[in-house]
Amino acid sequence: MKPSTKYYSTNLKAPGVSFREALFRGLAPDGGLYLPEKFPYLDRKELEALSDESYPLLASEIMSRLIGNEAEKDIISNICHDIYTFSIPIENIYETKYLMRLDQGPTSSFKDFASLFMGRLMQYFLDIEGKYITILIATSGDTGSAVANAFYGLKNIGVVILFPSEEVTDMQRKQMTTLGDNIKVIAVDGKFDDCQRLVKKAFMDPSLSGFNLSSANSINIGRLLPQTVYYFWAWRKLSGNPDKPVIFSVPSGNFGNVAGGIIARKMGLPAKRFVIATNENDEVPNYFKTGVYKVISPSRNCISSAMNVGHPSNMARIIAIYGGIMNENGKILKAPDLGKMHSELYATSITERETVKTIESFYRQYNKLLEPHGAVAWSGLQKFLNSNPGSESSDLIYISLETAHPAKFGRELKEILDINPIQPDSLVKINSKIEDYISLDNEYEPLKNFIIKNYKP
Ligand SMILES: *Cc1c(COP(=O)(O)O)cnc(C)c1O
Repeated sequence: MKPSTKYYSTNLKAPGVSFREALFRGLAPDGGLYLPEKFPYLDRKELEALSDESYPLLASEIMSRLIGNEAEKDIISNICHDIYTFSIPIENIYETKYLMRLDQGPTSSFKDFASLFMGRLMQYFLDIEGKYITILIATSGDTGSAVANAFYGLKNIGVVILFPSEEVTDMQRKQMTTLGDNIKVIAVDGKFDDCQRLVKKAFMDPSLSGFNLSSANSINIGRLLPQTVYYFWAWRKLSGNPDKPVIFSVPSGNFGNVAGGIIARKMGLPAKRFVIATNENDEVPNYFKTGVYKVISPSRNCISSAMNVGHPSNMARIIAIYGGIMNENGKILKAPDLGKMHSELYATSITERETVKTIESFYRQYNKLLEPHGAVAWSGLQKFLNSNPGSESSDLIYISLETAHPAKFGRELKEILDINPIQPDSLVKINSKIEDYISLDNEYEPLKNFIIKNYKP
């Protein structure tokens, strides 16, 4: 068993910690994000030995390398076999261009991959120590449902989810409110920012310090590392040859997904390039163009709603991987190797009009559905191919990621294509289940009282 990797903070002002500590802390005490000091590296032989038949097997190979000896490989393997029971379709679209659908999990979002793993691993550590924690999160929709499903039924973890009562879709709400057991859901009479403010206040409140409040938001290293695995999977399935690299196009909002890919590359994955496709929140594509990073605030509203992010928190990790330092406010304290970033990454912003046009043309040409996020990635890939004609080599394989099931965006697709996407089983079942949640005013006291009443310090 290899010795464990230490995890450092991207702000470089906090001590290095174990994987376990990084997992439970979430944010480093200096406001930075955790990253492994050294990425485990897979050589040619190890790459070729990765399974191309069993995703759980491949996932346990990759995850046990990242976690080291803090959890036995058997434990990790059991978790992977329990949670990764859904398919990961890779569809050929034309020539060597593919679409990988990461939308077959229990909440039909790619966020299932990491949330499921994180919940089970936290439960494993807590069970050993006989500890109990309460996860408190604010959600604008997708994160809440993925985390609720992933943490449902875990014995040592309670979950409290706050959502803005008028700002989530019926389906998103039902995905959270029909579970029960250890999942408690609160509708706040306010906006997403209000929910986030209430959660932050609870974390800072000394009178709640005994309640072991913890977060499961997207900056947690546990929400990131499992997102390296499907990149290996796609390469293994479509190439399997270390000399035959692939190119990915990733729809990006908070940049956790693409950060997973970049880490996979660091681990030896033969990925030649990542296309980072954003919606009209174009702060990163602009940074690539000008070298100047400017946060967009407030973020712009686009139909690819999960990517309406004006300052992606994982950008600090990407800058760190390329040798720079970016603080939590988006200020670059040390420039990264921009030349290297340009040669390995390609960032592009897709307009609303282009997104809609892509949904239309993809359906017309290939008779397949893309929802808005997947359309941004596909459109980004086309832009990359058009602006890099030399890259159009028959040796290269291109994989665009679809991150949500089209049925989750039924209203949008009905408007654009005038069709109703077929709902996957997981979404159909929800309709007949009973919802249970409470409503609270947009104030701190009621939330605090709710926690004190329902949880043991
Ligand atoms: C969260 C989300 C994204 C953005 O992923 P990041 O890791 O935040 O870049 C893209 N598509 C869908 C459907 C999402 O839910």
